Amino acid sequence: MQLLEGKSAIVTGASRGIGRSIAIEYARFGANLVINASRLSEELEQTANMVREQGRLCEIVVGTVNAADTAKAMVAAAVEAYGKLDILVNNAGITNDKPLLMMSEDDFDDVLAINLRGVYQCSREAIREMMKQRSGRIISISSISALSGRSGQCNYAAAKAGIVGFTKSLAREMGKFNVLANALFVGVIDTNMVWRMAPAAKKEVEKSIPLNRIGKPSEVAGPCVFLASDLSTFVTGTTINVSGGGYV
Ligand code: NAP
Repeated sequence: MQLLEGKSAIVTGASRGIGRSIAIEYARFGANLVINASRLSEELEQTANMVREQGRLCEIVVGTVNAADTAKAMVAAAVEAYGKLDILVNNAGITNDKPLLMMSEDDFDDVLAINLRGVYQCSREAIREMMKQRSGRIISISSISALSGRSGQCNYAAAKAGIVGFTKSLAREMGKFNVLANALFVGVIDTNMVWRMAPAAKKEVEKSIPLNRIGKPSEVAGPCVFLASDLSTFVTGTTINVSGGGYV
């Protein structure tokens, strides 16, 4: 018996990086998927094919996560294709790093909209189904920037810290419906976000991590499998630190 056999899961921001890895791991452990990104791309279609190669079903819903229409369409796709929605992973996120004095209102609002308002929109639609079912899991990807802050990330760190308060409140509201909400403090992971770093800066980051390396997307996907599975039925309102000790 697979850990996620027969489960139905939405993963936002799944065209590459951490979201793609979560979608593939979920499929490997038995789930059928709805995957999303802000636009249709070859990368997004590749993720869908990778899920299907695991012998699972995959629907694609394109649209920005901070729009109610996208959230509604993702939940509708899951219910139509699989008859239910068991798991939502709020993974989609962006950075736009700048010193605060250079950070325009749009620079601030856009990062808050996608990283935090997106979590609100998608969770709000997902719980409508999960409450009816009397079960569900909401897993949101935060960052160790929420804990330690980072120069140039006043917008991003604020959004990622916001996810934690959101998750704890949601866990309290939803406990009586057996809907569990948790978040991950993710450290530096080898994706697009990190490829933009200068090699010297990357070396410095590696030295600051006790495991002495940057993490792989699949190392975030593992804890997401745990939080979606029956191994974590009494875990809600909490966060898992997935940073190789980058924040201790
Ligand atoms: P990534 O490689 O840049 O992937 C981001 C994903 O989100 C892509 O699929 C992107 O696809 C999608 N996306 C962007 N804007 C979107 C929107 N408005 N609506 C829907 N989808 C959108 O980033 P990643 O490193 O995998 O990051 C995934 C999550 O982990 C993010 O929440 C990030 O903040 C968090 N995180 C990452 C790190 C790290 O070191 N990599 C560390 C801590 C936390 P499109 O561009 O095609 O829409």
